[in-house]
Amino acid sequence: MSRPILVINCGSSSIKFALVPEHVAAHQVRRSGLAENLGTPEALLNITTEDGKKTSFAIPHADHQAALTEILKRLGDEQPIAIGHRVVHGGEKFTHAVQIDESVLNAIRETTPLAPLHNPANLQGIDATLKLFADLPQVAVFDTAFHQTMPPQAFRYALPEDLYSKHHIRRYGFHGTSHAYVTQHTDQLVDGDNGWISAHLGNGCSTCAVWQGKSMDTSMGLTPLEGLVMGTRSGNVDPSLHIHLTRTLGWSLEEIDQILNKKSGLLGLSGLSNDMRTLTEAAADGHRGAQLAIDVFCYRLAQSLAAMSCALPVFTGIIFTGGIGENAAVIRAKTLALLPHFGLYLDIQKNQKMIRGAEGRIDQGADDTELGINAYLGRQIWVIPTDEEGQIARETRSVLDL
Ligand code: ADP
Repeated sequence: MSRPILVINCGSSSIKFALVPEHVAAHQVRRSGLAENLGTPEALLNITTEDGKKTSFAIPHADHQAALTEILKRLGDEQPIAIGHRVVHGGEKFTHAVQIDESVLNAIRETTPLAPLHNPANLQGIDATLKLFADLPQVAVFDTAFHQTMPPQAFRYALPEDLYSKHHIRRYGFHGTSHAYVTQHTDQLVDGDNGWISAHLGNGCSTCAVWQGKSMDTSMGLTPLEGLVMGTRSGNVDPSLHIHLTRTLGWSLEEIDQILNKKSGLLGLSGLSNDMRTLTEAAADGHRGAQLAIDVFCYRLAQSLAAMSCALPVFTGIIFTGGIGENAAVIRAKTLALLPHFGLYLDIQKNQKMIRGAEGRIDQGADDTELGINAYLGRQIWVIPTDEEGQIARETRSVLDL
């Protein structure tokens, strides 16, 4: 068996990592961790080992390079064979994962205007890793690449042509690694020419229409702000909102950006929390803001699922994933109840049981031998726990032919 892949996801003040062996089930515990608060006195490295043991180490003032050096010391006996980096934005240049060399680094740098916060952090991580693991091949896996198969009718905004051709303003989509993983995995479980709509519902949320393994449309756009209601992001608002808030309240672009990205979504609507667990509990206790946040979240999600069906020649079913998609049975049920004309017949019991890492079908047709294969005309509904790290490791192996 070949040595593991080290998967790295660098943010501006954090590094997530996981050591992914060649053959390991998605739900199996991996050596993984999170270095957080980098560059501050509170910098901390949290590590989980293969036996599930968790430990934390203070790494005061550590920067990316120092944190990676600490991570390197704690990788255990099995040193990695290669490194896979999550890179947020690949623009139109990257339709697949690629091995990192100088030209790839330059191309990621050129894409920075499209992801001014994320790509510089990803580059910082790559830079530090190239120094520390100079002998290992390194691969960039882009969040946007999976969506490069979208047709122009899905990726173009109705804006003047120059804004696209000269300034690259178009819909790119994100969460590509997750949508790719859950749809490919479900394709392995279900034979046929499948058309899926996957709903990745975590802190960030997006839907994606996938036919024959290709992304046909997705709800996020130029940035991850477009589309669904998310933890703290507003999702779609009237495009004139910026000018309206500037004219009426005198707010700057930066203030509006902060509001839309950090103070809106579930948090803004509920006035309570961005965490769906807190909101479902509070709503059950009669908290009106929490109930409103859930109502808007589910309604907008149902709208998006319906919209995504336009992109599919065949609509086999829906896949739920991400922290909310994998665990919040009540949100799945409430959303599907808003789509009575879509042939989505939820099995209430199966829905309630499919939580905490369980994977399977939750529609009434699953295992229903009594009805017979042709009698059940409903669409499939799946819960598939996502495995972005596993997918990045697989793509890294595939690019390097390992
Ligand atoms: P990220 O996008 O940061 O990876 P996750 O995929 O872990 O986030 O999803 C986080 C979201 O999942 C939070 O809103 C959290 O409340 C929600 N979540 C996790 N477990 C449950 C649960 N049992 N019930 C409802 N929501 C849950």
